[in-house]
Amino acid sequence: MIPFGDLKLQYQAIKIELDQAIQSVLDEGWFILGKNVSAFETEFAAYCDAAFAVGVGNGTDALQLALMACGVGPGDEVITSPLSATFTALAISAAGAIPTFIDIDADTYNIDPRKLEDAIGPRTKAIMPVHLYGQPAAMEPILSAARKHDLLVIEDAAQAHGTSYKGHRTGTLGDVGCFSFYPSKNLGAFGDGGMVITNNPEIAEKLRMLRNGGQKTRYDHQLIGVNSRLDELQAAILRVKLRYLEKWNHRRQHIAALYTALLGDSEVDPPVEIPDATHVYHLYVVRCKERDELQKHLAERGVQTAIHYPTPIHLQGAYRWLNLRRGSFPVAERCAEQVLSLPVYPELTDAKVRQIAAHVMGWHH
Ligand SMILES: *Cc1c(COP(=O)(O)O)cnc(C)c1O
Repeated sequence: MIPFGDLKLQYQAIKIELDQAIQSVLDEGWFILGKNVSAFETEFAAYCDAAFAVGVGNGTDALQLALMACGVGPGDEVITSPLSATFTALAISAAGAIPTFIDIDADTYNIDPRKLEDAIGPRTKAIMPVHLYGQPAAMEPILSAARKHDLLVIEDAAQAHGTSYKGHRTGTLGDVGCFSFYPSKNLGAFGDGGMVITNNPEIAEKLRMLRNGGQKTRYDHQLIGVNSRLDELQAAILRVKLRYLEKWNHRRQHIAALYTALLGDSEVDPPVEIPDATHVYHLYVVRCKERDELQKHLAERGVQTAIHYPTPIHLQGAYRWLNLRRGSFPVAERCAEQVLSLPVYPELTDAKVRQIAAHVMGWHH
């Protein structure tokens, strides 16, 4: 049996350091907004080449707070991808704005910037590109459309810790970058966590207030904020793990390269890497027309796979009121029927990757 993921393996590999970090928080007895959160904010900002980082409760809140800090709210529309975690759109809704979608590029699964111009309307306030599966969206055309129409760009980098695009870390290309530390992400906590990064000092200041009930100083609530803070335990854990992120990302890239080499003549399409960017393979996603059959074939041979995502956001019940339907975004809809995520995590051995690839090669429609 090869599981889709196994978080125990990562813990076991660096157990001593993690146990020490956790114990020291317990010994200190300070759990909310303390020295670990500040230190991790500084370290994560440095890692991303960003001026500021603000720790929050999770990735969805990071997106919502980024929108709020940029002044995006009721009456505004935000353009994003229909093929993402639905949480991307939920964050837009939570900020009081309306998610609008453009179709994706069939090769990269990221938004197709050629579709932007037609989608930008009088209410459009921001673009929220998602760096899906760990590969940056086509930021250059996205940023130039944003400049032309005076739109904000808020990056959903929840799957893209450590990627870069034309030499710049994702999360710093737009106005604000948002990360999730959900346990299975490339940098994962032992619970929920998130981070917002920016080079804009005013946005950073506003984020610090918004995540903490809108307080400027204690008991002085200047904004209608939320309660969404990264906690000391998670920050202490993430500080340890951040030191391994580059190594883990390289291991993911090695596994991806091995899969792609082994799957050369198979009936599935491996991921397409764009030039001038790095892909950190949060997910290794192949595509094939008879996806469900392939998934069953692999399951019968003990290989657990997953689908990201089976239902595009515009077809989710929560967004029925947008009156979009099947056919609204045909590329995203087709991809949702054909994508299959194979196991990829730093602890997965080359031998297991070869086994999985052999099972894929052994499948014939
Ligand atoms: C994980 C994820 C989120 C949400 O992050 P949480 O920490 O689970 O709230 C948002 N967008 C994308 C693309 C994600 O993968």
